[in-house]
Amino acid sequence: MSATLHDELRKRFGERVRFDEPLSRHTSFRIGGPADVWIEVDSAQELHELQRIARHGEVPVFVIGIGTNVLVSDRGVRGIVVKLGRGLGAIEWEPSPQGMRVAAGAAASFKKVVLEAAARDLSGLEFAEGIPGSIGGGLLMNAGAFGGEMSDVVESIEGVEAERGVSRYPRSELRFGYRYFDLPQGLIITRVTFGLRPGVHDEIRARMADAKRRRESKQPLGLPNAGSIFKNPPGEYAGRLIDAVGLKGTRCGGAMVSEAHANFIVNVDGARAADVKSLMDRIVSEVWSQKRVRLVPEIRLVGDWEIGA
Ligand SMILES: Cc1cc2nc3c(=O)[nH]c(=O)nc-3n(C[C@H](O)[C@H](O)[C@H](O)COP(=O)(O)OP(=O)(O)OC[C@H]3O[C@@H](n4cnc5c(N)ncnc54)[C@H](O)[C@@H]3O)c2cc1C
Repeated sequence: MSATLHDELRKRFGERVRFDEPLSRHTSFRIGGPADVWIEVDSAQELHELQRIARHGEVPVFVIGIGTNVLVSDRGVRGIVVKLGRGLGAIEWEPSPQGMRVAAGAAASFKKVVLEAAARDLSGLEFAEGIPGSIGGGLLMNAGAFGGEMSDVVESIEGVEAERGVSRYPRSELRFGYRYFDLPQGLIITRVTFGLRPGVHDEIRARMADAKRRRESKQPLGLPNAGSIFKNPPGEYAGRLIDAVGLKGTRCGGAMVSEAHANFIVNVDGARAADVKSLMDRIVSEVWSQKRVRLVPEIRLVGDWEIGA
């Protein structure tokens, strides 16, 4: 990246620009090499300016949410990593014919939106009790659990793209799949609008308590991780398959297949991204050779994996 681009970014974003920022500070795995440039932006306008500067300088931009579903390579990320700041985290409520519409900034915590909806006795997001991360990351992953997913309640999104600036997309133009969203090319999501219905106070609480109980009984709490590593294959559970091929507790460097839930890899002792990736490769290979099922990663492998990892 050129010195001129560095200067331009510094001039525009001041102290919010950091160089060689370790991404291990920004991921739930506590793993990840440096981002060439790290910038926090606080409005759609700033984001657009950044996209245009980056485009002009022919430098890629990667957006990170709360970093709970990514494995960042040990070599880090070439280009700019952008984090959406508080200015893009507002949560606004507005009555709608179905009940209530909530427009949440992409930087808002998913957990906060879920809890505020429950406090208003609104139904539709109970499935997400306990899912960490941001609204933007949740949308991109079509985050879900226990039979519900984000796409069930999304009404529209807004985002910014270098060429066109701010765009709005109604639900009819959005394509979702299992832990998948077909993100329009170059778009960074800035706002998501959900449609929620009035619900029964005790029933909402009961569904959330059930989700919490199921999560706490199965997931490794306390050790850094990134949630489910692999998607569940059709009609199966990735965790059951990994357990069945005998890999629970297997270690590679500082990473280990969780004893509590085989579809989680935990950072037990200063794991590197390469350790996690080696475990993932081993899992895919064993499950294929013993069960003839091809596991596909749910987590996003981010950054420069070309040489070494
Ligand atoms: C303990 C634990 C439990 C979990 N349980 C669940 C679960 O039950 N169900 C589930 O679905 N997930 C689960 N996850 C995974 C994760 O929490 C979700 O996928 C979450 O929605 C990711 O949000 P994030 O902000 O952390 O995204 P990040 O990890 O920061 O990013 C994920 C992807 O989204 C992209 N992205 C982020 N923000 C934007 C944006 N504004 N515009 C465009 N792209 C964007 C990133 O570029 C990246 O590709 C769990 C994770 C952990 C650690």
